[in-house]
Amino acid sequence: MIQFQHVFKSYGQGANILADINFSIAPGEFVFVSGPSGAGKSTLLKLIGGLEAPTRGSVIVKGQHMDQIGSRARPYLRRAVGVILQNMHLLYDRSAFENVMLPLAVIGLSSDKAAARARAAIAKVGLSGKEQLNPIALSGGEQQRLAIARAIVNKPAILIADEPTANLDQASAQKILEVFRDFNRVGVTTLIASHDLELLRRHANRTLLIEPGRFKDLGTHA
Ligand code: ADP
Ligand code: ADP
Repeated sequence: MIQFQHVFKSYGQGANILADINFSIAPGEFVFVSGPSGAGKSTLLKLIGGLEAPTRGSVIVKGQHMDQIGSRARPYLRRAVGVILQNMHLLYDRSAFENVMLPLAVIGLSSDKAAARARAAIAKVGLSGKEQLNPIALSGGEQQRLAIARAIVNKPAILIADEPTANLDQASAQKILEVFRDFNRVGVTTLIASHDLELLRRHANRTLLIEPGRFKDLGTHA
């Protein structure tokens, strides 16, 4: 589903953030990306989401080399990967419902179908009844769940999330994790970047560890 082959990434003239990274993730896996702040977790997720290109090496997502895809395949791949970045990029000049509708605007569904999909996505993250609220009126955990609803409304095969539990209390963080588990259970390949070691300890999962100058596939720990 996802393959990194000798991937290097630097920004501008800077040093390599990632150097000779190799791993592969099978369909349906649930994987944590952990390591200290600034080590390159976001960078790794952005490479998978096609938001950054590798400096060298290959990033292959659903059989497509991300660096070689033409402009016609790009929107398809973008939809194949639901992305939840660290600042959630919610729009505060419109309702929660309209935020989730946004990604549907570009794929040409009828407005009835789009609205039904948006409602289903909102229901899956447990926000039914809050559709008409402005996101600013939602708690931190609810805003995070709204960002998840928007990321999955196009039914991506892959979901990537950058520090989705940052700034949340433990109960809210737990709830977010369960939302991701629910999507993973129905087959969505899921990657979550987190430096919250406590969270990682509580959930036995395959973990990719990124530290400055070091990359290690820790496999699945108990
Ligand atoms: P993490 O998610 O582990 O905190 P990041 O991938 O965000 O790490 O960042 C890794 C390193 O790359 C940091 O030193 C960061 O400052 C740098 N970096 C990230 N994005 C950019 C960018 N767009 N331009 C320049 N440097 C960047
Ligand atoms: P439009 O794009 O013309 O507003 P929509 O299909 O998006 O049409 O929805 C019609 C109306 O119903 C909108 O005002 C929308 O905000 C509202 N609406 C749609 N779904 C819900 C929902 N789940 N909860 C509350 N209001 C909704």
